[in-house]
Amino acid sequence: MAEKFDVIVIGGGPGGYAAAIRCAQRGATVALVEKASMGGTCLNVGCIPSKALLASAHTLLRAKHAAVMGIDITGATPNWAKIQQRKNMIVQSFVKGLGGLVQANKVKIFTGRGICTSQTTVKVESPAGATEIEASKIILATGSEAINIPAFPFDGQTIISSTEALSLSAIPASMAVIGGGVIGCEMACVYAAMGTKVTIIEALSQLLPKEEPWIARILAAEFKKLGIETLVGQAVQSVDKSSSPAKVMLANGQAIEAEKVLVAVGRKAICDGETVANLKLEMNRSAVKINNRMETNVPGVYAIGDAVATTYLAHGAFAEAEIAAVNATGGSEQMYDYELIPRAVYSFPEVASVGLTEAQCAAKNIAVRVGKSYFRTNGRAAGENETVGEVHVIRDTAANKVLGVSMVGPAVTELIGAARAMLGSSEHIEHVMFPHPTVSEVLRESWEDAFGVSLHAPPKV
Ligand SMILES: Cc1cc2nc3c(=O)[nH]c(=O)nc-3n(C[C@H](O)[C@H](O)[C@H](O)COP(=O)(O)OP(=O)(O)OC[C@H]3O[C@@H](n4cnc5c(N)ncnc54)[C@H](O)[C@@H]3O)c2cc1C
Repeated sequence: MAEKFDVIVIGGGPGGYAAAIRCAQRGATVALVEKASMGGTCLNVGCIPSKALLASAHTLLRAKHAAVMGIDITGATPNWAKIQQRKNMIVQSFVKGLGGLVQANKVKIFTGRGICTSQTTVKVESPAGATEIEASKIILATGSEAINIPAFPFDGQTIISSTEALSLSAIPASMAVIGGGVIGCEMACVYAAMGTKVTIIEALSQLLPKEEPWIARILAAEFKKLGIETLVGQAVQSVDKSSSPAKVMLANGQAIEAEKVLVAVGRKAICDGETVANLKLEMNRSAVKINNRMETNVPGVYAIGDAVATTYLAHGAFAEAEIAAVNATGGSEQMYDYELIPRAVYSFPEVASVGLTEAQCAAKNIAVRVGKSYFRTNGRAAGENETVGEVHVIRDTAANKVLGVSMVGPAVTELIGAARAMLGSSEHIEHVMFPHPTVSEVLRESWEDAFGVSLHAPPKV
């Protein structure tokens, strides 16, 4: 007889494990089905390993530039085997810890491929055989995969996705990165710091096409200093692998030589085909269609995270997991405004933003005042030799509240959480204490400037 639960969650990534734990905390009996490794893309081949590599790369760059700080270091070179080993150890320990955390919450983990055979039944297929489990509620959190381009498909050796790029056996002499989005920029920084000759090729008119143009300008200038060549408005037509290094052929006839070609043009939602067919799930291309309660068209079946293609962010998946878990366990909640979900890029320099951009405000005919502040005028940033970057705060002048914040500079991926907390506020920030000296004072300064009460900006004439 099939084992019965209140809720079955399929997928153990940030969306799935968060939903499972929250359901259990709300008193439900919960099964979590995962076919690969706990933690999903984020923990195994995404957020965590990429940030571990970026941290090693940042350490190397700081060591190379230590003379500026009065410290002479000679022979700062990357030990790639150790860098990989450190990254792998971080991932392994977090995967283990997560498994323990999920079980400590009394969630039963099933290892195998989960297939919904009906809206209350899941078959778990594994090499050991098949098991059936039942629940009145099912949450689909099956994630996404890297987009493959048929003209030059992944081969895992020369033409690679971010998954292979995170675990290369050696530092390549050259790399072409197709796609100047978040993953492309981050991996470009890792390898450029390690000494790889990196070329980013972006089809649209700027790096990070979703961010403000001024951010892309600073990024391209800083990437140049790192040795990264940035080609924007350039489409790749083919990749010639007949000789080594390969040649990336652009539509304008230019050929870029590269030992590795990282294709980072985005990710695509996935949901098991048999589940889609059995449940007659309504889909939006490869993504599961949901409403703002994270409900699918099938009563009792919810979907969250990359599988619904809303944010392709781990913290987006966490947010949706909270909503689905509440709704699957007798509560009632709606997903809040997606614009309130911060975006963070851990490149050199870092980029972070939340809320509306200036262009979005203009499109909505919202009159704004943009407050600005610069890391070069910040004492802590000067001391740290991290003076590149600025913060822009966008205030709706009629409603007198902040609608958006965009940042480039040191630790801005940490600062953006504070900006998110203050979004929508018309609070007098000069009454909010920021410790001095900290780089966070740049946020305060730009906020003050947006309200016309800046202390340190020269008077505007
Ligand atoms: C290189 C890289 C860097 C990234 N960096 C960041 C970052 O810094 N910050 C950020 O917010 N996001 C980042 N992301 C995105 C982030 O990883 C994803 O948004 C997040 O993992 C989505 O979580 P999820 O739970 O929806 O899906 P996933 O993490 O993809 O988890 C889905 C899980 O479901 C399992 N599964 C699928 N089908 C089945 C089935 N039928 N049966 C059983 N199990 C199944 C899969 O094995 C997988 O473990 C990055 C992604 C990449 C690739």
